[in-house]
Amino acid sequence: MDLTAALEASLTGGRRRVDRLAGGLVGGRCLQCSATAWPRRAVCHRCGSAEVAETTFAAVGELITYTTVHVPRPGLEAPYTLGQISLPDGPLVFGQVRGLSGDPALPLRVRLTLSSNASVPGPWYWFEPTELGATHETPTSS
Ligand SMILES: [Zn+2]
Repeated sequence: MDLTAALEASLTGGRRRVDRLAGGLVGGRCLQCSATAWPRRAVCHRCGSAEVAETTFAAVGELITYTTVHVPRPGLEAPYTLGQISLPDGPLVFGQVRGLSGDPALPLRVRLTLSSNASVPGPWYWFEPTELGATHETPTSS
């Protein structure tokens, strides 16, 4: 296995993480096994290949789980919501979820939103429910 490309890869912090024009997160897709990661890795986490191509993932995914955090952090007043989002063409990503109301049925269709002002403390991306809402019918109790 030739890992020369991994030695020449930029440091993780220096890799592009977002495509503002496309409005999507930029990660990596392994050219050997198609595994995806965000941020892009120098070496595939599944097969170890150094052939990892930069790719922009879809901006709409499914919220599959979430939790409410009651401890504030710089730029985020408590309580706030963190969730795990499954991107249809990418990895599971973790991020803040805004605009949830009540106890929504999961999975819930959510869209990536990018901060337009990088100088404001707090997250530079988050997810919000789309107009379409739940991606499946909620089972009715009988
Ligand atoms: Zn791979």
